Amino acid sequence: MKKTLADINVKGKKVLVRVDYNVPLNASLQITNDKRIAATLPTIEYLLKKNAAVILMSHLGRPKGKVVSEMSLKPISVCLSELLGKPVKFVGGDCISAESKKVAADLKSGEILLLENLRFHPEEEGKNAAGEKVKASMDVFAKELASMGEIFVQDAFGTVHRAHASTASIVKYVKDAAVGFLVEKELKFLGETIEKPARPFLAILGGAKVSDKINVIENLLNKVDAILIGGAMAYTFLKSQGVSAGTSLVEDDKLELADELLKKAKEKKVDFLLPVDHIITNKVDFVNKQVPSDADIKATVDEAISEGYMGVDVGPQSLEKFSEVVKFSKTIVWNGPLGIFEIDEFSKGTIKIAELVAEATDDGAISVIGGGDSVSAVKKAGADKRISHISTGGGASLEFLEGKELPGIAALSDKK
Ligand code: AMP
Repeated sequence: MKKTLADINVKGKKVLVRVDYNVPLNASLQITNDKRIAATLPTIEYLLKKNAAVILMSHLGRPKGKVVSEMSLKPISVCLSELLGKPVKFVGGDCISAESKKVAADLKSGEILLLENLRFHPEEEGKNAAGEKVKASMDVFAKELASMGEIFVQDAFGTVHRAHASTASIVKYVKDAAVGFLVEKELKFLGETIEKPARPFLAILGGAKVSDKINVIENLLNKVDAILIGGAMAYTFLKSQGVSAGTSLVEDDKLELADELLKKAKEKKVDFLLPVDHIITNKVDFVNKQVPSDADIKATVDEAISEGYMGVDVGPQSLEKFSEVVKFSKTIVWNGPLGIFEIDEFSKGTIKIAELVAEATDDGAISVIGGGDSVSAVKKAGADKRISHISTGGGASLEFLEGKELPGIAALSDKK
């Protein structure tokens, strides 16, 4: 068990908090969704109440180790200040400049400083100016960051699967380190859900590639009662069983592996559900995420997809079958869309699953959703408030489901 805010004494201390303020900005650098900023308020407000001085650290976008003015955290400092109803100090340009260090040194209890984008420094990701990996440079940068505070708090769930200077190395150079409220909640939900699930336990996995989710499937096969697969991944599984997939997105080099996973599921008596019918089309404009007006769209009669057509969503018979399984599940973990969700015509399966998961939750199931598309789907279905837990970290929640150690958590101090 890692230390939480309740286990550390922050009174009068300078607390460095890693947050995930990687928010979407429009062309005029306005924040289009401030959810990630709002999600950090409980930790910040708690620290201020305990008379700590708060130094916030985040990355934004992929500036690749260079100063990119459009990726400055300045607009975020303004938004955070509005949300908190308090001033937020900000120093532009360089997060470890003499000026940043001076403002940090002069910061009083109850005050807040937001440092500039960490990824303006290539060392944050353990690289040098040429973009080559140099582990030592990460430690030097982490030490510089740590010199501005005394205690480290990890509240950036979106980056805990990365072993970076501000997420992991920094812990070596501070007096104490703990998880913040946001990360604590993520670990509690994801951890308890997977380790002590109410049964039946169902995993719903979708998305483009089997290769991205092999480890998740392998790990979950040891834990769940049923796995439901949708999205393009399903065609690789179906093709591995000799079902024709037309021009669907299939990973031909993963057919053998898909067959092995199906065999493993059988051995472990895990119900492995694949679509029994599909929505197919002969044309998709992937670049503009549209269906050309002359495209032919139809539902198949069974699993097979005819030549010249690709599967783009699960069909109505599949949804009926899936609905029975979702309804009787008591724990549901969902990651990835069941079709080309970005195109309205092909988003029906994903939206329906979102509604089914919300209904099951109303009936007492625990539901955990991760991954950008699945989260958008529950929002689009107007069902997000009914889900037990929506993870703030797509990649991190997936690595958690893989059973991997998360570097940004592993580095923290253990509870005594
Ligand atoms: P992932 O990042 O692996 O969760 O995959 C998400 C992507 O999978 C989305 O952009 C979807 O459009 C895509 N996807 C889902 N179903 C299909 C499909 N049947 N054919 C092609 N792409 C798909």
